[in-house]
Amino acid sequence: MKYLLWLAIIAVVWWLWSKRKAAADLPAQPDDRQPERMVTCAHCGVHLPVSEGIVDEGQTYCCEAHREQARRKRAG
Ligand SMILES: [Zn+2]
Repeated sequence: MKYLLWLAIIAVVWWLWSKRKAAADLPAQPDDRQPERMVTCAHCGVHLPVSEGIVDEGQTYCCEAHREQARRKRAG
C-alpha cells in the first residue's frame, strides 16, 4: 500500500512537471521565429524574412518575377 502511495505521488509530480514544461515550451516557439533576419527586395523594396527571399548574385528578391525583371534590367 505504501508503494502505491509513492507511485501516486511520483505520478502527480511527473504530471505537474510535464505540464509546466509543455507550458514553458509553447511560448518559446514564436520567439524563436521572431529574430529571423529581414531583407529588402532589390526590385520593389518590400521587406520579407530572409528564408522567403530569392537570392541571386548577392541580391535578394521577394518573388521569382522580380528576380527575373531585375535580371533583364541588368542585361539591358
Ligand atoms: Zn519585389
